Amino acid sequence: MSSLTAVKARLQREPCTWLITGVAGFIGSHLLEALLKLDQRVVGLDNLATGHRHNLAEVQTLVRPEQWSRFKFHEGDLRDRALDAKVCAGVDYILHHAALGSVPLSIEQPLEANAVNVEGTLNLLMAARDQRVRRFIYASSSAIYGDRAEAVMLEDRIGHPLSPYAVTKHINELYAEVVARCYGLETVGLRYFNVFGARQDPNGAYAAVIPKWIDAFLKREPIYINGDGETSRDFCHVLNVVQANLLAATVENPAAVNQVYNIALNESTTLNQLFVALRDQLGRHDASISQRQPEYREARPGDVRHSQADITRARTLLGYAPTHNLVQGLEVALDWYRQNAR
Ligand code: NAD
Repeated sequence: MSSLTAVKARLQREPCTWLITGVAGFIGSHLLEALLKLDQRVVGLDNLATGHRHNLAEVQTLVRPEQWSRFKFHEGDLRDRALDAKVCAGVDYILHHAALGSVPLSIEQPLEANAVNVEGTLNLLMAARDQRVRRFIYASSSAIYGDRAEAVMLEDRIGHPLSPYAVTKHINELYAEVVARCYGLETVGLRYFNVFGARQDPNGAYAAVIPKWIDAFLKREPIYINGDGETSRDFCHVLNVVQANLLAATVENPAAVNQVYNIALNESTTLNQLFVALRDQLGRHDASISQRQPEYREARPGDVRHSQADITRARTLLGYAPTHNLVQGLEVALDWYRQNAR
């Protein structure tokens, strides 16, 4: 039996209470869907800064009514300490995903990024400690590798940050480590590398590349590549991220706790290759798409040039085994975008 199958069986036998912050966002809504389908009790916190009620409404259509009844949503801000205490009460596991998650936004609004990502996370860590939460899982980011020019990123070798966002995620890791050491709260940080999938917002100035390009393909709008297109990423389907959260929350090996993990595929894809992969897959349904070409423009400040994860630590200590590679993940995601093109 795989680690994930065993964890799911155990959770269904012995349901737990989970807090998901950022629950109305892209990743948060997938965590919600997975946990409700496993008959868990879920508390959600979100101020809808970048998340959407329609993500929650969609999850409601994907689970049974009695599963949905086990979800309690609080609309509010992570920086509200009284609210943090309230949503942590009686919770076994926290999956902390609320953040201002955009590199360019953090360059424009560093104070806001710091307030939400650093102060908000520290507030929640303290509330988790006070409410005796069993474990605190939080979203970190590959952005913290910064200027480290290595072919493959290993958890213990980070570089200098290239954006305020990267600074905030690094500080989160430092606080999580210190809170574990000083107060005994168990923490696990998951460094995500370019996550994609259904419900990722294609709109707005700060949209991620995959949903933005899918949307542009479907609407026949220009597709821009920032830089020469040889920038590379380790694109990771959201179901692999859900798996990592379930494993990180429940792993029993003490050596696996109070750690940070790269969560990705250990595969490198350039933006030029991504463009071709999307064009090929979408072109199967619409021949006119096969003729599309990208338009190149200036690289964005703060962007890391190459980013590929070594995932040995997550494989070894968590039993993490990605179920969706880029092509499989794109197939699932594209079905959703075709059906939900707005
Ligand atoms: P998202 O923007 O869809 O989700 C973030 C959620 O947090 C939103 O629903 C937003 O409304 C909520 N939020 C923001 N500020 C808040 C506040 N002050 N109080 C309460 N809620 C607040 O982004 P996502 O892609 O789902 O990212 C989730 C987490 O994963 C973030 O911490 C992000 O930094 C991290 N991450 C994401 C990626 C990726 O590729 N998507 C990569 C690395 C790390």
